Amino acid sequence: NADSAMNKAKESGRNTYHFFTPELDAKAQAKRAIERDLRKAVQSFDEFHVVYQPIVDIKTGQMKSAEALVRWHSAERGLVSPEQFIPLAERNHLIMPIGEWVLETACREIQDWSRQSQTPFRVSINLSSRQFREQNLPDVVKGVLDRTGFDPNQLSLEITETLMMENLDEALVMLHELKKMGVRLSIDDFGTGYSSLNYLKRFPLDTLKIDRMFVRDVTSNPEDAAMVAAILTMAQSLNLEVVGEGIETLEHNNFLREKGCQLGQGYYYSRPLRIEEFNLFAEKRELENTG
Ligand code: C2E
Ligand code: MG
Ligand code: MG
Ligand code: MG
Repeated sequence: NADSAMNKAKESGRNTYHFFTPELDAKAQAKRAIERDLRKAVQSFDEFHVVYQPIVDIKTGQMKSAEALVRWHSAERGLVSPEQFIPLAERNHLIMPIGEWVLETACREIQDWSRQSQTPFRVSINLSSRQFREQNLPDVVKGVLDRTGFDPNQLSLEITETLMMENLDEALVMLHELKKMGVRLSIDDFGTGYSSLNYLKRFPLDTLKIDRMFVRDVTSNPEDAAMVAAILTMAQSLNLEVVGEGIETLEHNNFLREKGCQLGQGYYYSRPLRIEEFNLFAEKRELENTG
């Protein structure tokens, strides 16, 4: 495979022709082609949209907020997963324009929706570590809030453990600046990175999201069950709000509810939805809750 070809190329020193295996070349070419398409797409953003996945109060079933997730529907490639193009965008500096576009689009769309429904509503947006390293993030966020009139208290930014560890001091300064603006901060995919309780305490966090990897087998794997229970206990003592991610079944949901997890997100409640469908989902929930 490509990695071992690369290693062999390194080992063999002078014989670097090993590097140019047809397989590796094809892979590199395919990647470059995606990058080219992505760069083009970022010029107009016509091929991008944002979907929203409800985050629900596990006890009452009420929708409390939503996570904004970017989608790229390429004319040539069809729907490309963010798992595929976000890492590419991070390597090519395209994550800055994409990140800002998602932020602005989500604030605008949720703002319109909140006005119509007269329900103040929170939206959560993912940040990449590059956005911390290559731009003054608080300025970018402030610009978007000014342009859209979005209430900073309704905005939550999701960061990962890796992001915090990579450029600790700089990240800390920016996070404190964001907090001062009134923005909320969540730690995403918790448990998959270098979780150090010490860092959790040092960062000005509001919310912790338990990675779906732990939730998946929570009813069949005692270790995962213990892990989730421990995270919940710890979060409680740190006064953090907790979201269980990847809730797919009633069993997942019941387990998390019994352990005291307040909020849930996952296919059991809803897949990520386009804004129009999201509106319908919200209306229906409202009816269920009042009626
Ligand atoms: P994430 O932030 O952890 O987002 C949650 C992912 O889990 C989403 O995948 C969502 O569709 C998926 N998911 C939600 N509920 C379930 C469930 O019940 N079961 C399963 N199997 N999956 C579920 P998606 O949209 O493909 O995004 C993948 C990752 O890409 C995100 O993980 C996030 O790290 C990144 N990403 C997505 N949008 C953005 C963005 O606008 N900016 C940045 N920087 N990253 C983004
Ligand atoms: Mg997220
Ligand atoms: Mg996550
Ligand atoms: Mg993830």
